[in-house]
Amino acid sequence: MSIQTQTLYHGGVMVNYRCTAACRHCLYACSPTREAGYITRETARNICRLLRAGRCRSVHIGGGEPFLDFNGLVMVVQELNSAGIRIEYVETNGFWASMPEATERLRCLLVEGVDTLCISLDPFHAEYVAYSNPLGLARLCDELGMGYFLWKEQFVPYLSRLEADKSHSRAEMEARLSAAYIRDTARAYGIRLGGRAVNIERAYSAFSPYDELVDDKPCRGLLSTEHFHVDLHAYFIPSGCTGLRLPLAELIAGIPDGRYPVFEALYRGGVAGLLRLALERGNEARGGTPIPFVPDKAGYPSKCNLCFHLRRYLAQYGFKELDAEYYEESLKYSE
Ligand code: SF4
Ligand code: SF4
Repeated sequence: MSIQTQTLYHGGVMVNYRCTAACRHCLYACSPTREAGYITRETARNICRLLRAGRCRSVHIGGGEPFLDFNGLVMVVQELNSAGIRIEYVETNGFWASMPEATERLRCLLVEGVDTLCISLDPFHAEYVAYSNPLGLARLCDELGMGYFLWKEQFVPYLSRLEADKSHSRAEMEARLSAAYIRDTARAYGIRLGGRAVNIERAYSAFSPYDELVDDKPCRGLLSTEHFHVDLHAYFIPSGCTGLRLPLAELIAGIPDGRYPVFEALYRGGVAGLLRLALERGNEARGGTPIPFVPDKAGYPSKCNLCFHLRRYLAQYGFKELDAEYYEESLKYSE
């Protein structure tokens, strides 16, 4: 029997994976080296149709960095408007705030009906974007009547110990903020420890042997639609379990049995089911030589961290529901 989904409650449209930053907590492992594509009008229109079919009434727009292609962003805004889907806010790291065209861009978005920006601001972003940019963008929004919220405003006093007009390396952050700024920022955020944040979890957590972490509790949250995303290829990305993806069209129509073995293993049998699948694949000859899954002798900080590494291993077998680029980008992390 195919797996059916429910109403699409609360989500975002990810217009790209390319970003000017490579934040160490990025759940989607976005970076300047990820695929350069931006959502096309055809895909944006198709996503709008599917969102309507899933009874979705509003979304935010995110990335990657949506402002890397401003004309593309305006196109997505127009498609959502035409489909009658409300835009809650547009996310940005504010890298463009000091560009001469910043005022014109905000005016244009206001004309198109966008009324709120979510402006990223925290020590992780400040490693790539001088924090004068998000603060400058906030001031410009005030002047022009654009609504905004700083995500997260609580970091402003902390960041004031840095020079406002430049980004800062990890070593500079550790010297000026705290030797533990990574741990403290992650805790203050309460971030999901997926994507590039798997490295944060490994750095600051106790490890357990892999077999103590394995259980067969089904991962039903994979189909939660409380904070889902749809990417520029019209894939549904589960809210916390990034690196997995399913065509949004199939999610709405019903996911055929047997088409997505990794997804099914987790959805029906949890990480125990995923481990079984990895061990089975490892026993099969691949190019004449079996490559078994070898658990890390040091163990893992959590079940979900083990799941990440199992999926990274399985991505080499070409499962359609695994985004292989995501796993490699996630592990590019500045120590
Ligand atoms: S968290 Fe935002 S700004 Fe940072 S890399 Fe990810 S998409 Fe880019
Ligand atoms: S074990 Fe994997 S699929 Fe299940 S909740 Fe954790 S990350 Fe998601």
